[in-house]
Amino acid sequence: MKRILTGLQPTGNITLGNYIGAIRQMKELQDKYDSYMFVADMHAITIPQDKDALSKNTRSLIAIYLACGIDPDKNTIYIQSENPYHANLSWILECNTYFGELSRMTQFKDKSSKHANFTTGLFTYPVLMAADILLYDADLIPVGIDQKQHLEITRDLAIRFNKKYGDTFKVPEPFISTTGTKIMDLVNPTIKMSKSSDNPKGIIYLLDDIKSARKKIMGATTDSEMIIKYDVENKPGISNLINIYSALTNKSISEVEDEFKGKNYGEFKKCVADEVEKLLTNVQEKYKEYIESDIIDVILDKGMEKTIKEAEKKYKEVKEKVGFKR
Ligand code: ATP
Ligand code: MG
Repeated sequence: MKRILTGLQPTGNITLGNYIGAIRQMKELQDKYDSYMFVADMHAITIPQDKDALSKNTRSLIAIYLACGIDPDKNTIYIQSENPYHANLSWILECNTYFGELSRMTQFKDKSSKHANFTTGLFTYPVLMAADILLYDADLIPVGIDQKQHLEITRDLAIRFNKKYGDTFKVPEPFISTTGTKIMDLVNPTIKMSKSSDNPKGIIYLLDDIKSARKKIMGATTDSEMIIKYDVENKPGISNLINIYSALTNKSISEVEDEFKGKNYGEFKKCVADEVEKLLTNVQEKYKEYIESDIIDVILDKGMEKTIKEAEKKYKEVKEKVGFKR
């Protein structure tokens, strides 16, 4: 059985973008693949985090996974920082990564430009991500398009290491679905919807109050053309809403265009808001149960034990190959 792996950072409240780009995919794939899903808390601290918020968000993210339908019997669920081998492997990989290749990463350029003082961790982020993936011989990585560049580095590092030290790592493939690969901010549809962004008006959070989520959809930036057509360049707002609707209903872009031919933006937005409401109501109901439940710790302990064992084995192999032995 092929293995898929993905992680989200506990950097804030989970957005509709995270759901559509990552969690939804994992849910669809969990029946066919051996699935690994983790909380990337070590990645989160590449940007300053309040320590109490970080641990609260970590637990909340697990409850979100479960509420979204990630099945603990079909997935290995764990927290990155509970396994020391991620950081250990990352160091060895860093020593095989070029400064130049990390300098080209758009996420680094984006995020570093928002902070007067940014850390080297933000710069080496993609290498830790490579370690997360390569430790477990993952085949497929479901990510939003914003992470595609990082996945390419992961592949390059795996190939480079295998060439230098002999076959060690599986070279993973990105798994990017055809819809919803990049959900945009509702107010400014030329930037990505991000949970760490500071303008909540443009973001649907899965735990948003339903009324305010509907309001955000109804108030989404559009254009003056009044044609419901997918055209990212000229109609970024409408295209984003089409993407959201298409992902939530499993309809193709052209099916959505046909469905709303001749309709006005208000009618279309109402239908998008209905779909968002359905999703949020369902997730929030389940979230309430999980967040209070001890099941979270049972799942995490099991995930921790299993992944430490597996990662240790891989790390030992790597260590010996680079000459860390007496
Ligand atoms: P941050 O602002 O802290 O970087 P984020 O919203 O970008 O948060 P991440 O934890 O970095 O979320 O990413 C988790 C997963 O969600 C990744 O697989 C990423 O590709 C996906 N993702 C994030 N934002 C979007 C989006 N707007 N559309 C589709 N997928 C997304
Ligand atoms: Mg991100």
